[in-house]
Amino acid sequence: MARTYKHMATSVIHEGYDSKNMLGSLTTPLFQTSTYTFNTAEQGERRFAGEEEGYIYSRLGNPTVTVLEERIAALENGERGLAFGSGMAAVSAMLFALTKANDHILCSPGLYGCTFGLLTMMKEKYNISFDFSTMVTEDELHSKIKSETACIYVETPINPTMKLIDLEMVAKVAKEYGIPVVVDNTFASPYLQNPIDLGCDVVVHSATKYIGGHGDVIAGLAVGKKEFLDNVAVTTLKDIGGIISPFDAWLLLRGLKTLPVRVDRHCDNAEEIFKRLKTHPNVATVYYPNDDAHPDYHIMKKQMRRGGGIISFEIKGTKVDAQKFLNELSFLKIAVSLGDAETLIEHPATMTHAVVPDESKQYMGITDQLIRLSVGLEAWQDIWADLEQALNKINVSSDAYSKA
Ligand code: PLP
Repeated sequence: MARTYKHMATSVIHEGYDSKNMLGSLTTPLFQTSTYTFNTAEQGERRFAGEEEGYIYSRLGNPTVTVLEERIAALENGERGLAFGSGMAAVSAMLFALTKANDHILCSPGLYGCTFGLLTMMKEKYNISFDFSTMVTEDELHSKIKSETACIYVETPINPTMKLIDLEMVAKVAKEYGIPVVVDNTFASPYLQNPIDLGCDVVVHSATKYIGGHGDVIAGLAVGKKEFLDNVAVTTLKDIGGIISPFDAWLLLRGLKTLPVRVDRHCDNAEEIFKRLKTHPNVATVYYPNDDAHPDYHIMKKQMRRGGGIISFEIKGTKVDAQKFLNELSFLKIAVSLGDAETLIEHPATMTHAVVPDESKQYMGITDQLIRLSVGLEAWQDIWADLEQALNKINVSSDAYSKA
């Protein structure tokens, strides 16, 4: 769906919904229904045969969900959107739809832990192999593509290391082979990055994060070509059944209205926290895309509007020091997830990426010292005060210092 409005701040509020068609209701009504009645048996027959438009059963479609799907399609500049019961339901539906037994998936050099887990399961059950490309140069990417490569799967920024992938470059190489590129756009949100505009084919979101934005819903979204997603809607989504509930779709529509305002504030806060983390004596390295010393800064400038709200950093010390640091926090919450109003902080090696084997963790750069911080919407001064007092309490041994 092409965006109707020139500015995203308008699109997040209005795309896909016309109150005139809904008795003047300002907000999208919540159609909390499992099924829809037919006026006659013949009408039911026509609906099932696809000869008449209309709703049948909420696993096949729901008016509240339709508004959400149209809105996300417009925000990502794709032809069609589809909503799912979780980010992983969206990721798995895309990967199952694009592959068959014995295929190969080429991935960015880092993935969310459960995506890694899903790929491992697909390998064990269906011999669908996967491996990583640094995706730094076209030549390296060419060298990793095999005759059985069915799709390229990219996270950028990568969870949790904040490496960036040049989406335009990946899309260009993939086009030479006719291989679709799927991008997990969760960390950036549609406000900061639009992979379809850069030539990629499918975008997935854990809508649980910035799109929902309030820590009260688990959901996923996918956007891509109409023909592809029409097919997913009547196969993988309908028959595996990982649909979103109408109420969760309604919550996402509410969350989306403030996406630009919230994400700008997340970015403002993250920029302040980043500067301070960088100079703290107990912090070894800070990874934030909007840092001119970040190796992928040029990619950020090219494809992201701002650096986002997530910062990763390595403390000087050991796993025990990393855990002590988290335990010393006073009001910041130790929790996985991200993109919420509350600042959330976690230890990827033992939490979000615990399922990733040590060898792959090492390849991805997930060390025992790495901390992932989702900077919330609180006053940055309070966020920093809490981080600083906890960092000051890390007991750094001389061994750990020499490692850093
Ligand atoms: N993709 C990324 C980058 C994530 O961080 C997550 C969850 O943390 C997911 C996908 C999965 O989303 P969900 O938890 O909504 O299933």
